[in-house]
Amino acid sequence: AESELVRSQRYESLALLAGGLSHDLRNILQPLLIAAPMIAERAGTDPSVRKFATMIETCAKRGMDMVASMLSFARGARQINPHLVVAQLFRATDLLLQGTRPRTMALEIEVEDEDLSVAGNETELQQCLLNLCLNAIQAMPPDGTLTLAAGRSELGRGDILEDEAAVPGEYVRLSVIDTGMGMSEEVRARLFTPFFTTKEGGTGLGLLSCRRIVENHQGVLRVHSRPGMGTRFDIHLPLRNVLPAAAQERAFDGAGRHV
Ligand code: ADP
Repeated sequence: AESELVRSQRYESLALLAGGLSHDLRNILQPLLIAAPMIAERAGTDPSVRKFATMIETCAKRGMDMVASMLSFARGARQINPHLVVAQLFRATDLLLQGTRPRTMALEIEVEDEDLSVAGNETELQQCLLNLCLNAIQAMPPDGTLTLAAGRSELGRGDILEDEAAVPGEYVRLSVIDTGMGMSEEVRARLFTPFFTTKEGGTGLGLLSCRRIVENHQGVLRVHSRPGMGTRFDIHLPLRNVLPAAAQERAFDGAGRHV
């Protein structure tokens, strides 16, 4: 089971990486595609300028084709469910942890509202919760308590970092709270660095993929932790469905029904 988890984490990281890369690449190629024809137009009587402009355009187009196939790999069959019930996500996580969680370790589920739901990709969000829970379990003594809590939250301008795509507003907070060893400043600063791990045989990819997943949902991932005081990860996902139009389209079939 361990190696399957590691494999799925690797695959997911690769897909997420491809997604991020293709967005960046597209932003680089787009201006070339616009500029090249303009150069050709203004080439005047010099045929070599026109030739070079065409060359630039051809290459940029080829790059865009690669971006398109990278994006389709990254998206895969990425389905957005507009109505994922948080309590059900938590219960599914509990089930998935059955074999891994020591019997003496308590698991508590606290949801503000049984009907609380979010829009998102179920597989990704489940994977994210699972990663956070596995870390929590590994950080705790066998008699620790793992708490999965959810409620509404609000993020203001000051709560969102400059490089985050999230917008101020109402959110749903999904928290994974452990009574484990907590972490030092140093560990906390490096949490999302690829391959950073303090565990023997760790991948150091779990939290990075969590963050990418949350970012894919226009959400925000926060950590609160102190040595000896346990750790709390908060996933904030937009309360209203503000996923990109393309992602929303995939959640509906032609007749406008949910897929
Ligand atoms: P891995 O679990 O393979 O080490 P992660 O990216 O999931 O990779 O985690 C990176 C590191 O962050 C861990 O090695 C650990 O030091 C620290 N960490 C993550 N979650 C917790 C937690 N709940 N409590 C204490 N430390 C944690």
